[in-house]
Formats: sequence, C-alpha cells, structure tokens
Amino acid sequence: MRLTTIGTGTAAPSATRVQAGHLVEADDVRLLLDCGSGVVHRMAGLGLPWQALTHVAITHFHADHVSDLATLVVAWRYGQTPPRAEPITIIGPPGIRDLLARHAAALWESLLSPGFPVEVVELTPDAPLALAAGVTLASHPVPHTPESVAYSVEHGGRRLVYTGDTAPDQALGAWAAGCDLLLAECSLPAAMAVPTHLTPEQAGDLAAAARPGLLALTHFYPPVEHEDVAAIVATRWSGPTVLAHDGWRVDLGTLPRTP
Ligand SMILES: [Zn+2]
Ligand SMILES: [Zn+2]
Repeated sequence: MRLTTIGTGTAAPSATRVQAGHLVEADDVRLLLDCGSGVVHRMAGLGLPWQALTHVAITHFHADHVSDLATLVVAWRYGQTPPRAEPITIIGPPGIRDLLARHAAALWESLLSPGFPVEVVELTPDAPLALAAGVTLASHPVPHTPESVAYSVEHGGRRLVYTGDTAPDQALGAWAAGCDLLLAECSLPAAMAVPTHLTPEQAGDLAAAARPGLLALTHFYPPVEHEDVAAIVATRWSGPTVLAHDGWRVDLGTLPRTP
C-alpha cells in the first residue's frame, strides 16, 4: 500500500500547497482521500493516475476538502479521450449524497450520470467497506463538523489512518492505535489555536496516544510553517515524524512493523 500526499494545504492560498487530497494505492484500488481545490490539476502535475481512480472518499464537507469533486468528474467526461467508461465510487459520511445532488444542481446536471456509473456510498462507522478483496475502508467520527470522520485503510496487514480535519480527541488516538502510518492534520500554531483543529503540540499528543509507525503531518495553514513544527511535535512524541509536502510518497511496506 502506498500513500502520496497530493495536497497538504488548506483554505489559505499557498504557492506550494494545494488543498486537501491524498492518493492511496493498494493492489487495484486507487483511492483519493478528499478532493479540495487544486487537487485534480496537482495530480496531473505529479504524474498521478487521475484517470484511473477507483474510489473517492470525503472526510467532511468543508470547501477545502470537496471543491474539486465536480472538476474531477468533468475531467473524466471531457478532459480525457476517450471519456471514462469505468465506474467510480464516491464515499462520504451521511450527507454526501445530498452534497453531490446540490453540486449537480449548481454546477453540472450530469454530475451523477456523466456517462459512466457513479455509485455513492454513505459510510457509517459501524460498517467498514471492502473496496476490493483485501482492501478495507473504515470511518470514525471526529470533532470538527457534525459529519466529520477520519478514515483508515487496511491492506496486507498494514493500516493507514487519515485524520481529516479534527480537534484533539482521545477516542481518535485509541482508534488509530498501532497504525503503521498516521496522516494527521497540523493546522495552526499554539498562539492561533482554535477548538476545531490541531496545533503541532496536539498532533504530537495524538501520535503519542496512537503510537504509529510513522507520523506524517499535513493541512498546514501558513502561520504554522513559521514554527519549528518537528521540534514542537518532538516535545510530545519521540517517534518518526515527517512534514508532508505535495508529492510526498511513502510505501507502507517499507515502514518498520509497529510493536
Ligand atoms: Zn474542515
Ligand atoms: Zn480543512
């Protein structure tokens, strides 16, 4: 299983980071986690197989996580030759179906019938979804907006957890416990802390609770980049930590096994 961080930024325009989006590849599954503005064009820039995605999973309905969804479906219909024929599955917490219907009403009436099958799945935490044989997606509610979830992807004995956007949450640390890779948001410095996002200190606390094989940080608002994020995290969590960038890639099979 391989992760590529496509977009490690936020709502704040950045010269180097587009909004949230991450590609998980496992066997024949190519899963896009979140699809914020800039993610579709960034996939092209990074040479990633945007035409061949099999699943898209959305953590919550803030613009910086969903605003390229319509762009992506339009790209499959009009941005490639021949147009896409393969089915796509779009997954999200309950409400994703209504969100897509509203996007269709506002942006493109054929969004849910673009010439290839679009399956919409409203995933609940009690019912993990098999994306393919041996590849499982599960969700877990997180405190950010009412619908917000974190996701885990399991394949070949490895587990990746992506927090989406979240506030500090002990239950999330317990749910992520022992994962091989924890992709965690790290939005704002302590001096600008808000109750709906993580500071580097809080991301470190989350990692200390979850004890992942590797902590990768993402979702950086520009002010947090003026801090020594790695040094701050290290005051709370002594394990391996990476500050992801657009195009950062890791093969989970190369990570040491968590005890
Ligand atoms: Zn958000
Ligand atoms: Zn966000």
